[in-house]
Amino acid sequence: MRARLVAGNWKMHGSLAANRALLDAIVAGVKGVECAVCVPFPYLAQVAERLQGTQVAWGAQTLSAYASGAHTGEVSAAMLADLGCRYALVGHSERRQIYGETDAQAAAKFGAAQGAGIKPIFCVGETLEERDAGRTEAVVARQLDAVLGSRAFGDAVLAYEPVWAIGTGRTATPEQAQAVHAFLRKRVGQATRILYGGSVKPDNAAAMFAMPDVDGGLIGGAALLARDFIAICRMAQGKD
Ligand code: PEP
Repeated sequence: MRARLVAGNWKMHGSLAANRALLDAIVAGVKGVECAVCVPFPYLAQVAERLQGTQVAWGAQTLSAYASGAHTGEVSAAMLADLGCRYALVGHSERRQIYGETDAQAAAKFGAAQGAGIKPIFCVGETLEERDAGRTEAVVARQLDAVLGSRAFGDAVLAYEPVWAIGTGRTATPEQAQAVHAFLRKRVGQATRILYGGSVKPDNAAAMFAMPDVDGGLIGGAALLARDFIAICRMAQGKD
């Protein structure tokens, strides 16, 4: 039995004051289910301090593939581990699409995170054009195999995020998600948690979590709204 996980991706949102209110609400409202927030770098210390001793874990949204040195603007896995960071998103479609992150770079970042004891939440997903061309499985297999070719997936988390569903309000149907999760499951095995991400909201989360190979969610927009994020966490717990 895989324990469900709900991870929030705050993207480039937040302020000290807004984060404080959101974190206070999440700590008070989420019980009995694993949850995490992945926040912008400047706020890692704030979440580390606020979430210490709570059941809410936290992580970064990317990291450097390099260990140290002349990499201006980058943040290493060792620095994140130094702060006590548990998770790091790796290969998010916004990194791939806006910043040109390649499969090889995502795989290198995955290895850097694992090497420092940080659990990667490794994101894969197809564009609408790729889905319409019947290439969904080929695309997610290619993205995942970039990692599996050189290392074990270990206790990393996998996230299926169809690009056409991220931030668009258009979510995959539970059946569409389950089909891809089942395909990915064959590659990573029974023990790995596979999250669905892409416009998950309180009104569609329960149906998504009811799918046998959907082990929780990676939540963008709704993770910034305390009430919605808490409601989604409760659905992962099977409460609502
Ligand atoms: C994401 O950023 O990973 C995401 C799934 O965003 P949203 O929930 O807003 O679609």
